[in-house]
Amino acid sequence: MGVQDKYKKIRDNIAAAAAKGRRDLSEITLVGVTKSATPDQIKQLIEIGLHDLGESRVLQLQQRSAQIEEWLLRQQGRTEKKLPAPADIRWHMIGHLQRNKVRHVMGIVRMIHSIDSLRLAEEIQDEAEKTAKPMEALLEVNVAGEGTKFGCAVGAALHLAEQIDTMDQVRLVGLMCMAPYSQNPENARPHFTRLREIFEEIRFRKIGGERFKHLSMGMSGDYQVAIEEGATIVRIGTALFG
Ligand SMILES: *Cc1c(COP(=O)(O)O)cnc(C)c1O
Repeated sequence: MGVQDKYKKIRDNIAAAAAKGRRDLSEITLVGVTKSATPDQIKQLIEIGLHDLGESRVLQLQQRSAQIEEWLLRQQGRTEKKLPAPADIRWHMIGHLQRNKVRHVMGIVRMIHSIDSLRLAEEIQDEAEKTAKPMEALLEVNVAGEGTKFGCAVGAALHLAEQIDTMDQVRLVGLMCMAPYSQNPENARPHFTRLREIFEEIRFRKIGGERFKHLSMGMSGDYQVAIEEGATIVRIGTALFG
């Protein structure tokens, strides 16, 4: 199956999961995770409407975004196809971010999914202040308590959200998690439910205000379950490009 057919099939699956979970399809964003993608695959998906792209490493993010931007600029006015402007491509930083790398992603991404400490949030605040451009960000929670995973502890999430919410250049818009890998997507469900409960508690306390509305959860193996449990952003790599 070509990458465009895979994309269409995933979009159908997303619609089916949204219907099953009685969710509004328009509030669910598919982020194509380009880790293992070829440049040609990415271009094919941009041509049919995928404008949200994600990378988990800073260097790859820099290279990919520059490549795609250059390609879009070169295509302008050259082709019949209706291609987006480079500024319409929304890059997402989805992987662990070291503080000393923050400044490298600020000009590139629309959203950082992986705030997991106060110090990282402070670094983003400092960098965003320099350009006076607030950054949208999600708090990553280690819902399964796995030692090998990034994210703040479940018990620390509420207080951390409260602290980040005081920073005027960091727009806390929601939460993110990764469920432990499993063959059976149903095994991920309790972790997604847990993240949604933390999310609801934070909303109940009015932390983040109206902007606090995203749950970034669900990957190739478990995105349908994540949508049933309330995901507004799913991050899909191998099911698209693998
Ligand atoms: C790689 C990655 C994904 C995508 O994983 P797939 O299983 O390939 O869909 C999603 N989120 C994060 C944080 C990742 O690093």
